[in-house]
Amino acid sequence: MTDIHLYNTRTRKKELFKPLREGDVRMYVCGPTVYDRAHIGNARPVVVFDVLYRLLRHVYGAGAVTYARNFTDVDDKINARAAETGRSIRDITDETIGWFMDDMGALGALVPDAQPRATEYIPEMVAMIEALIAPDDKGVRHAYEAEGHVLFDVPSFPDYGKLSRRPLDEMQAGARVEVATYKRDPMDFVLWKPSTDDLPGWDSPWGRGRPGWHIECSAMAKALLGETFDIHGGGIDLAFPHHENEVAQSCCANHTEVMAKVWMHNGFLQVEGEKMAKSLGNFFTVKDLLDKGVPGEVIRWLLLKAHYRQPLDWTEKGLAAAKRELASFYEFPEDMGGEDERIAEPVLLALADDLNVPKAIAELHEMRRSMNFHDLSPTMRALGFYGAWVLPSEPELSYSTMIHAMASDLDDARNNKDYKYADAIREKLIRAGIEVRTTKQGTDWKFTPDFDAAKLEEIGDV
Ligand code: AMP
Ligand code: ZN
Repeated sequence: MTDIHLYNTRTRKKELFKPLREGDVRMYVCGPTVYDRAHIGNARPVVVFDVLYRLLRHVYGAGAVTYARNFTDVDDKINARAAETGRSIRDITDETIGWFMDDMGALGALVPDAQPRATEYIPEMVAMIEALIAPDDKGVRHAYEAEGHVLFDVPSFPDYGKLSRRPLDEMQAGARVEVATYKRDPMDFVLWKPSTDDLPGWDSPWGRGRPGWHIECSAMAKALLGETFDIHGGGIDLAFPHHENEVAQSCCANHTEVMAKVWMHNGFLQVEGEKMAKSLGNFFTVKDLLDKGVPGEVIRWLLLKAHYRQPLDWTEKGLAAAKRELASFYEFPEDMGGEDERIAEPVLLALADDLNVPKAIAELHEMRRSMNFHDLSPTMRALGFYGAWVLPSEPELSYSTMIHAMASDLDDARNNKDYKYADAIREKLIRAGIEVRTTKQGTDWKFTPDFDAAKLEEIGDV
């Protein structure tokens, strides 16, 4: 079995990955808050962890991997959107979830094994909050009720800050910006908050209310993957406070040492060297790009090109280059067809080294240059590149690629001094209405008005 090494934010080391339970790999990735179309930055963790999911499935077997990615469908941004538009929350979240599935599907991302909606796990969240309020085996209570809110008592958890390695004074200074009077410590965070009648709410021991954001992931991860699982992922912006808070809640409620063994974070995406923001006018969604005719696989390619832990600068120039680069793999579409998916060894070794996609891409180019379609074609599919966008839809394109392949066969034959074979190809091209010229660079050709597609089809293999 191939050894996989992954960089673990928790230990700040690249480590040999070993599933906690043999033959049962469990991964959780924080998903979107569903009130709007996913922007291009949101797509980065989706495709990064999709590649990891594909790698794990390849190494351990598809049935041995469970991947959960949530939908946050209760959130003040969703409430605000409902108030603005007069639409129901369910309408907005259902529609947004549909968009997300479509857009991420267009990027070749596999559907995770579980896509829990937060609102379907409220009882689990309430149970977890109750466990945090109750004294633990040392008699410590990790949460308290105050003015209809329930807060996590940060000083009760001495490991707080270890995941993100934020210094205490920095976390405190950040928390002081917005201090509610009911907090015992400025760093304490909300587990449950009261809802007015116009807001979504659920009955609870603390009155009608709704959960805080962080508790959702702790409760859903526990319900779907268990108290301790293998991999937890998300964008680097989530390391603090979201993931720090998840760890605090889960470890204190479940009395465990760790929530997830390996924590992985993708770097941030910028646009033309600037932070993406609506106010800067450089904000766009995946759908915006798809609507402009950018193929989903090209978007996927560009999102994966940089190493996942590095920042990624999304540029127009980079996009055009990504399109050319990806297209170069499909120069001979007939050799890239098929359905089987398999990650060839050199690419597998690159990916197993903390998802070294840049190295994997270099290996793909090597296969392309040596015309090793036997490995290239199934590996591209195994990585989520099916080539549908280059497979010819316009007759001219389709025939061009056929003719292009025949012309290179012709050149090869001539270089090998197999003039009989070379002439045979030449004759057949001409019969199909192709003008053929021999140049120093090799065979040059173009369509003539006499081009007869049927004849070209008949020709088949020379
Ligand atoms: P959100 O809906 O804002 O919670 O984001 C959903 C996911 O997208 C999280 O894993 C974020 O870390 C990630 N994310 C948001 N913006 C970016 C960005 N510009 N670059 C990379 N990842 C991002
Ligand atoms: Zn989360």
